[in-house]
Amino acid sequence: MSEQEGILATREMVLERIREDSSFVLATHENPDGDALGSLVGMQGLLSALGKDSVMFIAPEDLPLPEEYSLVGLVGLIESPPADVGERTVVFLDCGNIDRNSASVLRDGRHLLNIDHHHDNTNFGTLNYVVPAACCTAEIIWDLMNGLGVRPTPNVAQALYVGLITDTGRFMYENTGPRAHLMAADLIEAGVEVPAVYRRLYENLQPAKLALLATALTNVQRFDSGALTISVLSAEDFERAGAEESYSEGIIDHLRAVQGTKVAALVRELGGGERKGQHKVSLRATDEAVDVSAIARAQGGGGHRRAAGFTTALELDGLIAFLRGAIAGQLHATSDGHAAATLA
Ligand code: AMP
Ligand code: MN
Ligand code: MN
Repeated sequence: MSEQEGILATREMVLERIREDSSFVLATHENPDGDALGSLVGMQGLLSALGKDSVMFIAPEDLPLPEEYSLVGLVGLIESPPADVGERTVVFLDCGNIDRNSASVLRDGRHLLNIDHHHDNTNFGTLNYVVPAACCTAEIIWDLMNGLGVRPTPNVAQALYVGLITDTGRFMYENTGPRAHLMAADLIEAGVEVPAVYRRLYENLQPAKLALLATALTNVQRFDSGALTISVLSAEDFERAGAEESYSEGIIDHLRAVQGTKVAALVRELGGGERKGQHKVSLRATDEAVDVSAIARAQGGGGHRRAAGFTTALELDGLIAFLRGAIAGQLHATSDGHAAATLA
């Protein structure tokens, strides 16, 4: 597909595509998170309500999914794209760029519908519906359901709620606005059992996860008067804690919370295969002067202004120097901007 073919869609165009097409494949980004999975189930619920055929695809390397997401209720996942993918519309959900999905055969879909909320989405679809103002991709699905007059079943409502609370950090991050709470109210009316969801997601910690958190807290380093709060977890740390890769989810919120922090970074050494020796870096900004997605893009990653990530072959020292420089560069650029504005 050439760049020119991609259309920036309106809501109405997306609704029309959904109404017109009859069979779909639903896909999301690698290492799927709560929003990725909640959006898959939400979209399948929407299509089922309209009597459409859809299958949800997740690559075998992303399975099994982290235990806490079992409540999303993904039933009938397929691990390889269907043979008739060329006749189906492929819907990419919560996927900022197509490289974040490993199955290149999905590019052969009849239409590629790209539904996402990352502001740096590369518009890789034939029809691109990117809504950066949405707090999560699940919010976009919920809005499309409203547009089609579809009410979520309790299971679908719960899946969308998982997307909502994970991407807003339980209604704590800057992307939480009135719509996030309106959506929550509507989903609760549709059958979400709030305490049960929170318990399953956040109060069912494997002891190994607690051990990994303990190590991460021990490994915390602070730079530049705390502007950068960082922790590094080596492959050995994971092994010693008996932890899987996904067990580091949520640790970065502890780093973000430390007084004086402008950027929190969690660096994980990747264990095996061709990515051995590489580092996966998660970034969170607490200061509106810092756009961590720009820092991540400079290393081939991406994300949101306040939450982003990338994978790098940089050595630790080089990586820390890069992060410190990038943060200082952004903070200085803004203070210069303020100075210029004051003088003007
Ligand atoms: P994480 O730190 O993995 O929770 O990711 C935070 C945000 O950054 C999410 O919105 C991700 O979609 C995005 N992100 C993380 N890693 C990458 C990457 N390698 N490329 C593009 N976006 C990423
Ligand atoms: Mn996601
Ligand atoms: Mn998301």
